[in-house]
Amino acid sequence: MTHTTPSPEVLDSYFTPAVEVTLEGMREGTGGPFGATLVNSDGEIVVAVGNTVIKDTDISGHAEMVAVREACRKLSTLDLSGHVMYATCEPCPMCVAVMMWAGITTCYYASTHVDAGDNGFSDVRLRKYLDGSDTSTLDMIHLDSGREDCASIWTEFQALNA
Ligand SMILES: [Zn+2]
Repeated sequence: MTHTTPSPEVLDSYFTPAVEVTLEGMREGTGGPFGATLVNSDGEIVVAVGNTVIKDTDISGHAEMVAVREACRKLSTLDLSGHVMYATCEPCPMCVAVMMWAGITTCYYASTHVDAGDNGFSDVRLRKYLDGSDTSTLDMIHLDSGREDCASIWTEFQALNA
């Protein structure tokens, strides 16, 4: 896929609202130093949000996650394909995943995960887990013996969707 990077003026108009709401959240003590703006295919801002981890006591309240949640609710859809994410900082793997679940295929980011790490927000353990270089941080164990216990979910799902 090819991308035409927006002009500096357009980038500014997308990043500025995210930066402002993030600074506000930091000053109020409601969120960390991360923001995101989600833009629709017409180039209109759908939401501009900051991190809400502290405000919502929500470890998953990363800005990109919040942007996807709010945009889905606002637009009453689970499909944000055609939308573009502008993140003040390189998204962590969780946020990459939520963007993919929502069908977003383009994300521009400003500062990097190294910048975040330098400020005490390292996601390197996630990156290492996912690239397989260090899987010691989470024991992910498939219990084949549990399949029987949970099989009724698939049976019912198939019945409901027959
Ligand atoms: Zn994240």
